[in-house]
Amino acid sequence: MFCVECGADGPVYEGLCANCFRKRYPVVKPVEFLDLARCESCGSFRLRSGWSKVDRELVLPQLLRDAMPPLPPYERVGFTQVAREEDANNLAVTVKAVGRFRDLAPVQDFHLRVRIKPSLCDSCQKQRGRYYEGILQVRGEDRELTPGEVRALRTFVVARVDRTESSEAFVSRIEEIHGGLDFYLSKNALAKGIARDVAGSFGGTVSASPKLYGQKEGREVYRVTALVRLAAFRKGDVVRHKGALSEVTSVRPFVVLRDVVSGEERRFKPKDIRGARRIDAERFEARLVRLESGEVAAVHPETAEERPLRTAPKAASRAVVVWTPDGAFLSGLPADTSKD
Ligand SMILES: [Zn+2]
Ligand SMILES: [Zn+2]
Repeated sequence: MFCVECGADGPVYEGLCANCFRKRYPVVKPVEFLDLARCESCGSFRLRSGWSKVDRELVLPQLLRDAMPPLPPYERVGFTQVAREEDANNLAVTVKAVGRFRDLAPVQDFHLRVRIKPSLCDSCQKQRGRYYEGILQVRGEDRELTPGEVRALRTFVVARVDRTESSEAFVSRIEEIHGGLDFYLSKNALAKGIARDVAGSFGGTVSASPKLYGQKEGREVYRVTALVRLAAFRKGDVVRHKGALSEVTSVRPFVVLRDVVSGEERRFKPKDIRGARRIDAERFEARLVRLESGEVAAVHPETAEERPLRTAPKAASRAVVVWTPDGAFLSGLPADTSKD
């Protein structure tokens, strides 16, 4: 076959040799400028498909594809680019556009400037507007949350929201209120899902109540309040239940009470030990001494007060004890069991 343009012998494309084809048909119509909106808050870029939280280097080829479709007769075009920052909001970009037509892949080189437009993505806009749908409330059963629980809950919920990797998922605000915590979340489903996770990890029960909030595009909009009640007792607490003194050795999935006198453990559903009362107690490793009476006593490490151990170990010189107004008892838990 001969090229109709230059007469060269060889394969032809639309009547032209590869060389003349390349000269006749540019791959794309280069543009001089491209504007790229970038969210000032989260760094997302706006593409034709929506806001996207990917690297600038990955956004640019997509931006080029959106702006410069292949010119016929090319079937496809691929871009590679090198961007140089002229200043914070201007990129000088060298582009290679590779067109595809049958087995031909001619390359077209050109330069353009990408102008970055500081903006605010939809999700950050909502967030700034303190937008929320669902509320996650965390409360203690008949008690206030401890400072340690408040810290742990904040970390847990924020990490859990980050893990969803959706720009639609965010915590709009967190309020400490009545000895509990309120999380305002961007989605009802988020509030319900995290409530279950909190109950599973911290030990508690969940209830949810939807409330009609308004209408959006003809649909009724609900706000869900998911309430987690953390168990009345925490691991390490000493409680009096039906006259017996016990330490709480676990709170999930059941509350486990260990009788400090007999050492026996029993499991309860939280509602079955509503009547149990927490009593003031300390837990520490104490030095043990033998009294003249033959009894073994524990020595308080700070006050040096001695209290007979109601449950004496065989021949130890130290032991972890719970120190209560009723006396000292051997503990089944380590001395550092969280009491914060
Ligand atoms: Zn030719
Ligand atoms: Zn954003």
